[in-house]
Amino acid sequence: MRRAAVSARLARLVRQRAGDRCEYCQLPQQWQESTFHIDHVRPRFARGRSLVENLALACVGCSLKKGAQTSRTDPASGEAVRLFNPRLDEWKEHFTWDGHWRIVGLSPIGRATVIALDLNRIRLVEIRRDLALLGRYPPQ
Ligand SMILES: [Zn+2]
Repeated sequence: MRRAAVSARLARLVRQRAGDRCEYCQLPQQWQESTFHIDHVRPRFARGRSLVENLALACVGCSLKKGAQTSRTDPASGEAVRLFNPRLDEWKEHFTWDGHWRIVGLSPIGRATVIALDLNRIRLVEIRRDLALLGRYPPQ
């Protein structure tokens, strides 16, 4: 059996710190069938370590889309920029929502991350809309 990259204690700490929400798309773990992943912000292949300062909670979709990506082209400037780093960056400085529960990038990092992680996956937008109807989205 393959050794887990992150201990149960560390995973618990990361989930708690994130308030049980995906740190990229802000989706809450509650009512999601799949358990969110413990993401290595700097990927393991790039020597990202399994330390609390390099870990983030990511829904399965964001985690799989992010994969080993660390940068992407900002569509507005055409420049390659690093992706959003939940350990360094404030979510609200880089993202907001439009009137239809789509995430909009406010900065080069935000715009590049919206594309890299496909933060407006159709099912995700539908879940945001439904959670908003229940008063459970967006997070405070
Ligand atoms: Zn997500």
